[in-house]
Order: sequence, then structure tokens, then C-alpha cells
Amino acid sequence: MATDPSAQKSFHMEPEEFRKHGYEVVDWLTGYYKRIESYPVLSQMHPGELRSYLPDKPPQQGEPFEAILGDVEKLILHGVTHWQSPNFFAFFPSNASGPAILGDLLSSGLGVQGMLWATSPACTELETHVLDWLVPALGLPEKFLSTSSGGGVIQDTASSSTLCAVLAARERATNFRSNQRGIAEKLCAYTSNQAHSSIEKAIKIAGIGSENLRLIETDENFAMNPEALAAAIEKDRADGLTPFFVCATVGTTSSNAIDPVPQIGEVCREHGLWLHVDAAMSGTAALCPEFRHIHKGVEHADSYCFNPHKWMFTSFDCDCFYVADRRALIQTLSVLPEYLRNKATESGAVIDYRDWHIPLGRRFRSLKLWFVLRHYGIEGLQFHIREHIRLAQEFASWVEKDARFELAVRPPLNLVCFRLKSGDNANQKLMDALNNSGDLYLTHTRLHDRFTLRMCVGQTNTTERHVEKAWRRIQEETSRLM
Ligand SMILES: *Cc1c(COP(=O)(O)O)cnc(C)c1O
Repeated sequence: MATDPSAQKSFHMEPEEFRKHGYEVVDWLTGYYKRIESYPVLSQMHPGELRSYLPDKPPQQGEPFEAILGDVEKLILHGVTHWQSPNFFAFFPSNASGPAILGDLLSSGLGVQGMLWATSPACTELETHVLDWLVPALGLPEKFLSTSSGGGVIQDTASSSTLCAVLAARERATNFRSNQRGIAEKLCAYTSNQAHSSIEKAIKIAGIGSENLRLIETDENFAMNPEALAAAIEKDRADGLTPFFVCATVGTTSSNAIDPVPQIGEVCREHGLWLHVDAAMSGTAALCPEFRHIHKGVEHADSYCFNPHKWMFTSFDCDCFYVADRRALIQTLSVLPEYLRNKATESGAVIDYRDWHIPLGRRFRSLKLWFVLRHYGIEGLQFHIREHIRLAQEFASWVEKDARFELAVRPPLNLVCFRLKSGDNANQKLMDALNNSGDLYLTHTRLHDRFTLRMCVGQTNTTERHVEKAWRRIQEETSRLM
């Protein structure tokens, strides 16, 4: 007896079920955002707690969607730190927004894998186009445009972009021999002692060796000292080493320091070194003409990255990486096996982004970035960035007026580094009390070898009310402790 194909058994979610549950998830998220301030910002979950709630084995039989979504509310949420809470002031933000979430949902739904132009032309061309849009919008040099010698690509993180920059720099410095034979030269790289840990990680992964990364001293504002950089390069040269790479930071993670990129760029040009500029969070500020000075000197850079997933309302993950000479990057990373050969690639008329980063496969990330840019417009983005900076500066002025506190540095943008004058212990206690209260979440760093609180105003939904409340809570807890 022939089987009726329409009666074939299936465990898949049927289209109408998908529609129903899809609306339920959007409803759930909408409700979550409405009540997000009622949760403790920092998850109060103990180690191992979530796992103790979960069954030892996966279900043998499928479960109703209601049960799954119900457990998100009942179990998962308790272990979530609410990065999207307007009372989140910790680290740097990792912002979501309505248009980004919906763009990401569409990307999931289309389920495109865009490793080659040919595997989905729109995935490649939208990405190239949106990254070109951002070049003038951020005041970046024209050489980063795809229509010139360079171009931009979306990577998962700044860490990955930095690794690609190090690899391309390594190959350029060794005439593309290291890829074939391994590294024969004794290469060395430079960044400031305030640079992000991802630089050291990239140097380790790239086979340079962390001992060959020089951490250049910084000035009173924690920005790299370009004379010290030049001296270190000259010393290494004299010692028979091969300097090849410098990473400058626009907005360090610890204190938001902005390295003097024009002077660093001069040094790099003089010595023929690859200059990478890491503007992970702060690059976004350059959307506003009055803050565009942070990109002064970027015309010297061989590569540059910033994270729309930090401060540009584009859900994690989305890092924009630009290079001035795309051939160097592609020549470094390109491997073309037979099964990826196709006419479009051979024609040379298309970009195949698989050659622009470490992984082969890639998501359609530009959709969410495109949604964000079209929803807000440059004007909308500028408005919110300005607000965050204004609120951070206002917060800093309140700190200055309270004699118990001091600013560790003058805040250049939206990160305020401050502390109680009464010592490390008091600052640690204050931070713990605030974070345990669940009312807000902030983190710390060490500046001038002292425990320093960091208050970053950059969450999508943070407004004046939240910053005022944060300062009130800081003052209350301080009075209780002292
Ligand atoms: C956050 C940050 C990074 C790392 O960002 P990822 O995208 O998570 O890799 C690198 N550099 C700076 C200056 C940062 O603030």
C-alpha cells in the first residue's frame, strides 16, 4: 500500500503554530521590557543554581511551547543579568533595541549562510553598503570605502577584528611568508598599558608571543605616550627585532582614555608599522560632529574597528572592521578549496566575505544594523548618544560637588570614573552594597593603583531619571557605610 505523503509523520512546528508562538514571544519580550526595572539588575543566582533546577536528561518526548516559554520566565530569568535594564551602568553597554531585535529575528528566519557572495548576494551587498554608509557618518577616511582600496566587514567582536588585523600585519611585515613557513622573524607589537586584553590574546593566538607585546606607558589621562612608543620601537630595532604592529585605543575600557592617534600614526608611518585603531565603544560618538575629534589621525590607520553592539543599539554581536588595503587581509586569510569555487568568485566582480575573517560561515548580521540605521536615522542616533554623554557629564558634576568623592579622571565621553576618597575598602563595600541591592549595576577598575568605580551611561533606555536615581542610591549607601 502506497503511503500518502501528506500524512507523513512530522515533529516540526507547523507554520500556523509558528505564527502563534512567534506572537507569544514578541508579547513576552514586550512585557519583559515593560517590567525590566522590577528585577535586580545583577542576577542574584548562586553558582550551580540553574543547573539544579534542570532535568538530568533531555526530554524523550517533545514538550508544548507554553511549557518551554514558561520556564524562561520561571527558571532562566532568575539567572539573567539585565543588560537591557536602564539601570545597567556596568562595563560598557551591550545594547539591544526594537529594530535590532526584529532585524535579527528576520536574519534567523531567513537562515542565510553568507560565506560567499554566491550563497546569498543580498547578505554580502547589504553589508558592504551599510559599512560604506558608516564611513562618512563616523568621519572615517575614504580609503576604508569598498569603492577605494579598502572596505568594511562585520565581525562578531572587536577581539576577532583585532586578531585579523594582527594576522594581516604579520603577513605584510613578512612578505606573506609566515603563513607558509611559520614565523622566522622575531616580531614585536605595541599597545598602551591600558589597552584591552583582546590585544594580548590576539598576539598570543597569532604566534607572536605575549613577551613580544610592549605595553607602552600612558600619561596622566591614561593615553599612550607617543614618544615612549617611538623609543620602544627604536630599541627593539637596535636589538635586531622586527616591530610590525601598533594598536591605538579610542576610548579604553578602563577609563575611556583616547590615545593620540595623529602622533602614533606618524610614528607608525616613519617605521612602516601597521596601525590598528580599536574604538570598540567610543567610535559611536563620532556620529556627532562635536565628538568627531576622537577620530583625528585615523587617516593613518591600516585598520579600524568599533562595535555597534556596544553603544549603537544593535544587538550583540556586531563589530564593524575596516581595512585600508583589502588585498593584504584577503591574501592573509584566503584559502580556496574546490567545493567553494564558483563563477561569481572567479569573475572577481564580487566580495566573498569568508576571506575577511576567521570563520567560513557567517550570519546575515547587516540586516539588524540596516534596520537600526533606517529606524533611528543618523539624527536619532545622534540624539541618544548626545543624551548619554550629557547625562554622564551631569553625573560627573554631582560627584565633584560631594566632598566625600573625587573624579579619577575628567570623563571624555559617557564613562565616569570616580571613587570615595576614603580608600579601597570603602569603595569595594559601596559597590557591593549597590550591586547586591539590585537597584543598579556598576563595575570597577584600578586607576592610580586605587579601586575606582566606573559608571557608564550608555544603555539604550537610560534617561535622566535613571542617572538621578543611581546617584541618589550611591549617596544613600555611602551615608549608611560611613
Ligand atoms: C569591549 C572592548 C573590546 C572587546 O570587545 P569584543 O567585541 O567583546 O571583543 C575591545 N576593545 C575595547 C577598547 C573594548 O572596550
